[in-house]
Amino acid sequence: MGRNDQLGTVGFIGLGTMGREMALNLLKAGYRVCVYDVVEAAIADLVGHGAEPASSPADAGRDADIAIAMLPDTPEVEDVVYGKDGLLTSPPRGRLFVDMSTISPVASRRIHADLANVGVAAIDAPVSGGPVGAKNAALSIMAGGEADAFARAEPFFRAMGTTITHVGAAGAGQTVKLCNQLICGINIQAICEALALGRASGIDLEQLRNVLLGGSAASWMLDRLGPAMIAGDTAAGFRIDLMLKDLRLVQEQALSLSVPLPATALVTNQYVEARAHGEGTNGNQALFKVYDRMTNQAAT
Ligand code: NAD
Repeated sequence: MGRNDQLGTVGFIGLGTMGREMALNLLKAGYRVCVYDVVEAAIADLVGHGAEPASSPADAGRDADIAIAMLPDTPEVEDVVYGKDGLLTSPPRGRLFVDMSTISPVASRRIHADLANVGVAAIDAPVSGGPVGAKNAALSIMAGGEADAFARAEPFFRAMGTTITHVGAAGAGQTVKLCNQLICGINIQAICEALALGRASGIDLEQLRNVLLGGSAASWMLDRLGPAMIAGDTAAGFRIDLMLKDLRLVQEQALSLSVPLPATALVTNQYVEARAHGEGTNGNQALFKVYDRMTNQAAT
């Protein structure tokens, strides 16, 4: 679809693994998209696909109906909101900010409140589905904030995702995402354990995966990440460093509410072990390397 200025303008901030694909899908849907990233090459790449370059978060939002951020962690989102040339001092024209990064729910609620004080509505809308979901505009988007702000953001979400749910007030999107992440982490750990036991027992791991996918042990992780785990492929998709960031946020929230999460604590420590071996930039499926070490076996 060609660009349709009537459709609206998006200021998109953060053009990494996920943000690049999401911004491309907004362009494909016909939106005008102004892009900003601290990496200039990331901006140039998107400009090559029809986006317009911005020199700061404020510049990206200047003419935008909505400013969207897709950044690594809480400090980067705070930088984009509170920093010099940030959205607090220079709000987007449409006075709507959507943070699709996974960050602290506490920080997210603070950002909502501070932006509300200057007349900007905010939505926290983290995503699940990985780089493939981002590329295929098939993300699951979990949104927190006021209903009218969600309604304004929803058409933009439709260009990036398929399961789009308003899950509650400010910060609720982040909390739902943290629930998602603890399941992902523990599920990867369960797959590592099944593969380690199968390998030590001389079972064909491809066949094991196929059998498991046909029964009650089937999962998104086994389906999408299982092949890389069996092949010993550590290539990044969702980095171990980012998974550790999410598991830390899960545990901060759980401790603040006195909710014991023993399985999350265990898998978090295994990811810490992986990072201590210099593996933080590997994809999170590469938790299998911890199991390689524990079983003293190289990946097959
Ligand atoms: P990434 O590190 O690949 O991309 C982040 C981008 O933000 C980079 O291009 C970086 O240069 C840019 N950036 C950093 N600081 C900035 C700043 N101050 N101003 C402007 N740009 C800045 O990360 P990603 O994998 O795209 O993940 C983004 C978010 O989405 C994270 O919160 C992550 O947890 C979440 N997420 C990732 C995946 C995944 O599979 N990669 C899946 C779901 C959710």
